[in-house]
Amino acid sequence: MTHFYWICEEIDGAARAGTLYTAHGVVQTPTFMPVGTVGTVKAMTADSVRATGAQMILGNTYHLMLRPGIEKIYALGGLHRFIDWSGPILTDSGGFQVMSLGSLRKIDEDGVTFHSHIDGSLHRLTPQNTTHMQHKLDATITMCFDECPALPAPNDIIAASMRRSMRWAERSREAYIPREGYAQFGIVQGGTEAELRAESVTALTKIGFEGYAIGGLAVGEEQNIMFQTLDVTTPLMPADKPRYLMGVGTPEDLLGSVLRGVDMFDCVMPTRAGRTARAYTERGIINLRNARHAIDARPISPECDCLACVRHSRAYLHHLFRAREILGPMLLTWHNLAYYQRLMRQIRNAILHKQLSALSQKLHMQWQSGDWTENDMPQPHLHAATSLCPIP
Ligand SMILES: [Zn+2]
Repeated sequence: MTHFYWICEEIDGAARAGTLYTAHGVVQTPTFMPVGTVGTVKAMTADSVRATGAQMILGNTYHLMLRPGIEKIYALGGLHRFIDWSGPILTDSGGFQVMSLGSLRKIDEDGVTFHSHIDGSLHRLTPQNTTHMQHKLDATITMCFDECPALPAPNDIIAASMRRSMRWAERSREAYIPREGYAQFGIVQGGTEAELRAESVTALTKIGFEGYAIGGLAVGEEQNIMFQTLDVTTPLMPADKPRYLMGVGTPEDLLGSVLRGVDMFDCVMPTRAGRTARAYTERGIINLRNARHAIDARPISPECDCLACVRHSRAYLHHLFRAREILGPMLLTWHNLAYYQRLMRQIRNAILHKQLSALSQKLHMQWQSGDWTENDMPQPHLHAATSLCPIP
């Protein structure tokens, strides 16, 4: 049996490169987890997700409990078998989703009662039942049930919410059944207030978890406020446990957060952008619906080895999106996830060689430099189809 543990291999400033050992395989950190909301990373097969280099994915308890239902997945052998993903899976508790239901939900001391966004049916989430549901899903990493208030919010509301999340963390831990190679993470809350974040870290480390997440960020605040909050939070977190920043973010967010000591991320940005014709690249975001790509025979990025870049032109992808063909979102989601994984590998290698500061400068320069010009990336030599009769 494999123990669940994280070892730090190198430190560069506050940034850490390490390896996470789990019952479902190893994960090299820093890592980005693609989001498999309803039991699928949208528009991707499990093999194509693996081909991007992703080692761990995320599943949403809220969505899976409503459809197809936790008991069905349990009866079918758990989430790994159900979705054909043998690697580690982290499941969130459903807390974040139910909090964002607005008028459809009601919070009390014991949990949250809410109406399904699908059919209006009444459901309830508590620290105990979400922990049990994640157990039945066979989640490698189970998340505590927490409350995530939108920012900005008055300090007393943030404080009361954080303290309730800490009481829920204790009850989540009591409901958790420890198994070799599995883990449960506590979630640090407290908005952007350093004192509240510190109080939250103290409460969680007293309970004791296999890893610690930072929740309640990237919920409406500016990037520099998020970074300032990380600056006062990560130094307080246990140095020998993985740190996971939930729901973040852009490539700039990931780099800035790794520089501040974060090891794990998840976000819908690369997959969502892939369905709306936006490609993440070394030179920033490129919109393939733009008319300038209509007769561009070049790949999205000369540095990418994904299926979209190796086999197809920008012109073809432009055509697929204009024609609303399913293949467009499929290829571009693949490309964006490949970019995110390549970025994380670059960051990890830089930490291992203590070169993260130099890489950070280079990446920022490239992101700001704009799309490749025809000089940087020339058009390939094309020949008109030779089997056709020449036009007189
Ligand atoms: Zn690509």
